[in-house]
Amino acid sequence: MIELQEVTLRYGNREILKRVSLTVEDNKIKAVVGPSGVGKSTILKLILGLIKPNSGKILIDGVDITPLKESQLYPIRRKMGIVFQGNALFDSLTVSENMGFFLRENLKLSEKEIERRVEEQIAFASLQGYETARPEKLSGGMKKRVAIGRAMIFNPAMILFDEPTAGLDPVSSKKILGLISSLRHKNNLGAVIVTHIIDDVFQVADSVAVLYKGEIIFDGETESLHDSTHPFIRSIVSEKILEQ
Ligand code: ADP
Repeated sequence: MIELQEVTLRYGNREILKRVSLTVEDNKIKAVVGPSGVGKSTILKLILGLIKPNSGKILIDGVDITPLKESQLYPIRRKMGIVFQGNALFDSLTVSENMGFFLRENLKLSEKEIERRVEEQIAFASLQGYETARPEKLSGGMKKRVAIGRAMIFNPAMILFDEPTAGLDPVSSKKILGLISSLRHKNNLGAVIVTHIIDDVFQVADSVAVLYKGEIIFDGETESLHDSTHPFIRSIVSEKILEQ
């Protein structure tokens, strides 16, 4: 479980997050939605311990990570996979090499076990036949599927997605959202999805937090968004897409 408790984050004298509290339960998909520049990616960086808040606590399975040193953060980070907005694939490596890269770097596994895990993720991401292709040969949706497979390969308990459908066509978006749903239903994983696309939220999220001007203005079941009277929430529910 991931919990942000009264987290405040400033860049210089700009307060980006103001006493933000948020809970992500195991085996659930939580969306964090808000306009561009509101601090959604910043929340993911805080959860990974890549940046520290000015005040407040960030608990991962009950452990406050805010005072931890870099070396103490490794076992915590291993519980979480991350899928970056731009995928962060290595252009010079094949699909299989990309998927296995961090396993080779970080865990002392036999080459046979690495190959088994890569094969499993290739099948999960429906990328059979593309094992030796390089990222430049792949469509946007396929690259995203490689990035998801790479995040899954450590068997994390939770996956963090930064704008998983940004820049994808509707068909590819649907496929990616289907894959994210299957993580939860078939693989029992939890996920945090930060997005400015409200359709993503309705398609996959169990619950949603809306971030607006540095504060959480809604946190509840996705369907309850329709009942909110907050003008910003009413506008995102009716217009479907937030201003970029
Ligand atoms: P979102 O993911 O919602 O688009 P971000 O979390 O990326 O927003 O950024 C939130 C705000 O913090 C933005 O205004 C951005 O310009 C600012 N910001 C992000 N990273 C830094 C940084 N390292 N230094 C200063 N400002 C930053």
